[in-house]
Amino acid sequence: MPGILYLVPTPIGNLSDLSPRAVDTLSQADFIAAEDTRVTLKLLNHFSIKKSMVAYYRHNTAAGGQAILKRLLEGETCALVSDAGTPAVSDPGEELVRLCVDHGVEVVALPGPCALTTALSVSGLPTGRFSFEGFLAMNKKNRRDHLSSLKNETRTMIFYEAPHKLLTTLQDLAELFGPDRPVSLCRELTKLHEEVIRTTLGEAVTRYTDQSPKGEFVLVVAGAESAAEEAPDPDDALAQVNALRREGVSLKDAVRQVADSMGLKRNLLYSMALESDKG
Ligand code: SAM
Repeated sequence: MPGILYLVPTPIGNLSDLSPRAVDTLSQADFIAAEDTRVTLKLLNHFSIKKSMVAYYRHNTAAGGQAILKRLLEGETCALVSDAGTPAVSDPGEELVRLCVDHGVEVVALPGPCALTTALSVSGLPTGRFSFEGFLAMNKKNRRDHLSSLKNETRTMIFYEAPHKLLTTLQDLAELFGPDRPVSLCRELTKLHEEVIRTTLGEAVTRYTDQSPKGEFVLVVAGAESAAEEAPDPDDALAQVNALRREGVSLKDAVRQVADSMGLKRNLLYSMALESDKG
């Protein structure tokens, strides 16, 4: 009978965020697969956990994955951790999960620290619908293609970014989405210098042109205003004109006021109002 692969989220900064269940799972697994065994050793030492580890990282996923799979198929249990946060979200764990699923090995995910959900929840931007975009490619054309495909995205978008690429990414975002688009720069979450800067893309570019960004960042970018929100509804405009007239405003003034505020043509609204007067 095969063993189980446990996905164990680890703190993204604050060590107190490791859950008691995560500690138990790490302690009880037969072995731990870690992205960087030196990073994980510090965590294990902090919690007095002694456990054998194997390295599973970006450049050994093929051989490393097969070795882990073999042990799982022989009945061992493995706890997979990344350097920080939830394994398999923008890190090589994704491939190990696929391998296990394909070979009928049970995978159990523990909930816990994740940079994506921590940033989204604190961003102050709409959270009802969102699109996680992970890291943008290093290659300029691929980055631009990726961002161009998001030009009309109305959901909140979340990007992971390394500090040395932050300014370029902000510049690309401001150019494609416009400088007024709201963005929340979530920096060093759960750490001593934790900071959430709620600003616009244009202001973010200015800020990091003046000072170089330090620490880890998640960018949460507001979605585009939907076409429905952008296009003024003439029936809605007419209703507003009629409401103003009931308050004693003249037809001409009501039309001017509403047409200007909604970006509609005055003569179109004026004709509509006359038509509706005729009943
Ligand atoms: N799997 C992890 C997760 O989802 O929590 C993320 C792994 S990914 C390789 C690392 C990226 O997560 C960083 O480049 C940064 O964008 C983000 N990140 C991790 N820790 C963070 C923190 N404390 N504050 C802000 N962003 C963080």
